[in-house]
Amino acid sequence: MKGNMSQMGLTTSMLISHAEINHGQTEIVSVDVKGSRERTNWKEVGERSRKMASALEGLGLKRGDRIGTIIPNNRSHLELLYAISGFGGVAHTINPRLFPDEIVYIINHAKDKAIFVDPSYIGFLIGHKHLLETTEHLFISGPKENEIAARMNGFKFLGDLIEEGDNSYQWPQLDEDDAAVLCYTSGTTGNPKGVLYSHKSIVIHANIVSLPDSFCISARDTIMPIVPMFHVNAWGMTYASAMVGSRLILPGPNLDGRTIIDLILQENVSLALAIPTIWEEVLERLNTNPISLPELKRIVSGGSAVPSWVIREFKEKYDVNVLQAWGMTEMSPLGTANSPLMKHNHLDNDLSITQMENAGRPTWAVQIKIIDDSGKELPRGDLEGRILVRGPTVIQRYIFEESDTVDETGWFETGDLGVLDSDGYLTITDRSKDLIKSGGEWISSIELEEIIKLHPDIYDAAVIGVKHEKWAERPIVIAEIVKGSNISESELLDFYDEKVVKWQKPDAVVFVDELPLGSTGKPIKKDLRERFGDYLIGGVGDG
Ligand code: AMP
Repeated sequence: MKGNMSQMGLTTSMLISHAEINHGQTEIVSVDVKGSRERTNWKEVGERSRKMASALEGLGLKRGDRIGTIIPNNRSHLELLYAISGFGGVAHTINPRLFPDEIVYIINHAKDKAIFVDPSYIGFLIGHKHLLETTEHLFISGPKENEIAARMNGFKFLGDLIEEGDNSYQWPQLDEDDAAVLCYTSGTTGNPKGVLYSHKSIVIHANIVSLPDSFCISARDTIMPIVPMFHVNAWGMTYASAMVGSRLILPGPNLDGRTIIDLILQENVSLALAIPTIWEEVLERLNTNPISLPELKRIVSGGSAVPSWVIREFKEKYDVNVLQAWGMTEMSPLGTANSPLMKHNHLDNDLSITQMENAGRPTWAVQIKIIDDSGKELPRGDLEGRILVRGPTVIQRYIFEESDTVDETGWFETGDLGVLDSDGYLTITDRSKDLIKSGGEWISSIELEEIIKLHPDIYDAAVIGVKHEKWAERPIVIAEIVKGSNISESELLDFYDEKVVKWQKPDAVVFVDELPLGSTGKPIKKDLRERFGDYLIGGVGDG
């Protein structure tokens, strides 16, 4: 028997309508490339999104068509995301930090019909326009500078397009299972793969990130997503901010420590979200010029493990809680968020900081289980295993693939390894693709990297598993050392003494001039494994 409640689906247009009608005067600040701040509000953003949606339909774009955006976090991007998914299109947010070949690949793979590009990335599109197979419309999302040159290269302006829209356009009713947004995952393993979010998964995700035990956001917050919209909708903030009607600061393309601190202070930001690298830079800057951050209550750090000194310094020096989150593109992205339970209320400072160091607890929409190599589920406790997730915000299948990427009961293997404790707190210990299994025992490459990165002569380093005659696999360090340093291999290896058990100590250090970095700034280990995989068995390895 079916329920008798409304058949209205969960769609992105519900969120922007709610913000437009009920939080219309709440401010949205958008920062441009020159640092100028434009002030608008949810009413204007809602109105312009509807008008833009009608203009997109006027271009002949149809429901289900993919429309690319290559734009930093600003007002135009926010409006476009709502306009595209609101009329039934699919907003394909493209990461401009990818290698050009990868960008061309994903535009063609997604079959993008139109692309909206920020002026700062036009050069790339002009150079690669002839390689785009399906793109019929190219729009510049910024001011009408160099108009003639743009026209000569076939670009139109978003500002002109919106003028053709209808002010009275109303959002159509869409099926909540229709696609709304498309994001490709980072291409460190083979070609990038597209994760196609539905309206329903986006709305559910907006709900779970907003909850008190997740990021705890409300209409009383001023949120600044530093994480870009092309990283899963700024970790869901484009939608959660409308759902709760918060004030929003969109920081634009310049994300250096000083700009971030200025915005936090001058715009009274109460919650900001970014990867640990950014928070480290912000802290270093704050430490050289200490100031108080009276309005900033918490920051969210995700994407990789946040160092404990970052948590401690923010808390002790600036009274800011670092809320660690874990997730991935395939999870919309939030899986877990670190917030305390009642029993943690009276922990002393050191213990409460220790408690904040893990990846946190699952939200209601994400089930998590840990399995061993035979596929058996491990009991909660301190056993490390492979992390699997399932739920309405988790992927089922990559775009255009014929088979599901989950098992027959819906579980998705994250490629991360971890431990789930008896309260459900998850500690990420490694990624399975990086895992080194030596003589049947696991070695965490992340742990070995973290240790060697503390050495003053190391500029950057990666630890990979390479073939070994006796132990099947052994760890080696690929090291980029500080310019002018004469550090030797044995000195670096000795640095591990007393820090790890003997059998976990890497077998060798290979010095390279420059580590190959992926678009997220992490070393591309696939390349390193290909290059140095035979290093210990007398194979090539040109290190
Ligand atoms: P992406 O899909 O690009 O967002 O990358 C997701 C991956 O980043 C996860 O599978 C993890 O390997 C890593 N990651 C994300 N958050 C954390 C975290 N808090 N601690 C450790 N690793 C993380």
